[in-house]
Amino acid sequence: MATKRPKNTRKITADFSLGRFCVSSCRFVAPSPSASLIAAQRQFQHALLAWYRANARPLPWREAPSLYRTVVSEFMLQQTQVKTVLPYFARWLEALPDFATLAAAPESRVLKLWEGLGYYSRARNLHRLAQQFVARPAAPRTPAEWRELPGVGPYTAAAITSISFGARAACVDGNVVRILARLTADATEFRASASAAKVFTPLAEALLPGEWPGDHNQAMMELGATVCFRQNPLCLTCPVRGFCAGARTGAPENFPRLAARKMEQRAVTRVWCEHRGALLLHRAAAGARRFASIHELPTPEQAGLDPAAVARGALLAKQRRGITRFQITESIHSVAIAPRGKLPAGAVWVPLAELEAVTLSGPHRRWVAAILAARP
Ligand code: SF4
Repeated sequence: MATKRPKNTRKITADFSLGRFCVSSCRFVAPSPSASLIAAQRQFQHALLAWYRANARPLPWREAPSLYRTVVSEFMLQQTQVKTVLPYFARWLEALPDFATLAAAPESRVLKLWEGLGYYSRARNLHRLAQQFVARPAAPRTPAEWRELPGVGPYTAAAITSISFGARAACVDGNVVRILARLTADATEFRASASAAKVFTPLAEALLPGEWPGDHNQAMMELGATVCFRQNPLCLTCPVRGFCAGARTGAPENFPRLAARKMEQRAVTRVWCEHRGALLLHRAAAGARRFASIHELPTPEQAGLDPAAVARGALLAKQRRGITRFQITESIHSVAIAPRGKLPAGAVWVPLAELEAVTLSGPHRRWVAAILAARP
């Protein structure tokens, strides 16, 4: 028969910093690392912010901040490193300096400016966002309002509103998950970074200060980008080392634990077909889910050619690249005979002299340039 717990033993101390006394087991229970961290949040915030103010990299969207610059930088920085973004950001700001200019620009110009940065849906969403932004009577200010705009998820909404409007919204991406998992030595195995982000969001919110939440968010991102590396984190110089349970284990790289992702292998054949000084390319339809309006070297089917005949053509290059969960090997074969009759939808002849004017996906731009450069 279960013994009934006396009423007065249900309540245990709420002082997380000191742990709690469990009456039923007559034991002192140490606080969890996240409870200790929350209990020390003021000291943590202070240490992080002081370090950020002294060490933040002088990035153009930080040096001369504006809502537009914050929005553009946050879109460009999704899945992309700062050093890659810098030249794109400078070119973009020069060509499209504000929401109104971006809203009025043709999509082809927007995509051309984005060429090589990848994940082109970001450019199209940013374009549509600007059009909706200028049509509104006032700028949206809250995370919920920003999430109504194209391409703005929880992370981007939190980043934009905390930096531009001081909203108390926590940014939680892979970098922040890594820091929080290490600070708390959380050994949970997560299936994906997105599910880990959901689990760590309450802790990230609890650590967010009422003042300067934008700087705090940027400090966390900066710490992830410059100190708390995936491999070999610089714990000895880390400003929050004193709060880090992962560092105390001696092996902070063990956190977070993410289930190994299985990569699917895929092989794709591409056609290199020249005719009368023009190269055959495929332009994805404007409404396509991926690569909409972007040019690439065509597959045999996109070129209207027999795949077996293409595979017999000279192999010009073999490239491997990873896209999401796919490891793709692309073989580019040269074919001597141009397709006859009407070309399939999307296939276009582009004069070699005009290749610079069209928007090619980044890898295809590099492959085309390499093949042309290797010719005698
Ligand atoms: Fe990361 Fe090391 Fe700092 Fe912990 S002490 S947050 S593991 S860099």
